[in-house]
Amino acid sequence: PSLLAGRTALVTAAAQGIGRASAIALADAGAAVFATDINEAALVSLAEQHPSITALPLDVRDPSSIQAAHARTGPVDVLFNCAGTVHQGSLLECDDEAWAFSMDLNVTAMFRMIRTYLPGMLEQGRGSIINMSSVAGAVKGVASRAAYCATKAAVAGLTRSIAADYVTKGVRCNAICPGTVETPSLHDRMRAQGDYEKARAAFIARQPMGRLGTPEEIAALVVYLASDASAYTTGQLHVIDGGWTA
Ligand code: NAD
Repeated sequence: PSLLAGRTALVTAAAQGIGRASAIALADAGAAVFATDINEAALVSLAEQHPSITALPLDVRDPSSIQAAHARTGPVDVLFNCAGTVHQGSLLECDDEAWAFSMDLNVTAMFRMIRTYLPGMLEQGRGSIINMSSVAGAVKGVASRAAYCATKAAVAGLTRSIAADYVTKGVRCNAICPGTVETPSLHDRMRAQGDYEKARAAFIARQPMGRLGTPEEIAALVVYLASDASAYTTGQLHVIDGGWTA
C-alpha cells in the first residue's frame, strides 16, 4: 500500500530544486499534491508530469495569495514549507533591505503559512508540518551567510515551539537541515562568484563525502516526515548533510 494514500500535501517553492523533487516524491508515495510557487510556468510542466500533482500559484510573501491558495486547497494533511532564499554575505555586508527580505521569505512567510493551515490540521486531529531549515545557522555557523544563518536558526525555534504546543493534538512539526544540495539556485550562487568551476570545487570540498546532495535525497526525507512512518518524531532538526557536521 502507498505510504501516503488518501493524504493531501502542499509544497511551497515546488517549481524547482528540493521543492520540485519533493512534490514528485510525495505524489509517487500516493499523496494528492498541491505544488505551489511564484514561477507558474515551471509549475505547469511539473503538473503535466504527474496526475496527482495540481499546480497552484502561491507567493508565500503575500498574505492575500496565501488566503487565495487556502480557499482552493482546503485543509491539507502535509505542509512542506520549502521556500527560502540565500543571502550571501557577512553581517557587515548585509543591509537592512536584504535582512528584511531574508526574514520575510525564510521565516515570516512560514509563520503565515502555518497560521493558515494549522487550524484545519487541528480540526482533523492529524497533520505533519515540515519546515526547511539548513545546517547553516541551525546546526553550525557558516561564513558569509549572516542573514541566512539567522533565518534558518529562527526556523528551528519556530519548529520546536509548534511541536511543543501541538504534541498532544496529532500535529507534528519537524525541520530539515540539508548540507549542500545541487539545485538551480546553487548553480546561480556558483556563477555569481565569477569562477564557476572554482566555486563548485569549494562547495564540494566542504562536503566530506566528496559530492553534493541531490534534491531526490532530501525528498526521501520529506516523504518519511510526511508519513506515519515518522509518527514518533516531532520538534527535531533532521540533518541530511553528507557528513558535513559529523
Ligand atoms: P531554489 O532556491 O533553486 O528554488 C527556490 C524556489 O523558490 C524557486 O522556484 C522560486 O520561484 C521559489 N520562490 C521564491 N520566492 C518565492 C515566494 N515568494 N513564494 C513562493 N515561491 C517562491 O531551491 P532549493 O535550492 O532547493 O532551496 C529550497 C529551500 O531549501 C530553501 O529554503 C533553501 O534555503 C533550502 N536549502 C537549500 C540548500 C541547497 O544547498 N540548495 C541547502 C540547505 C537548505
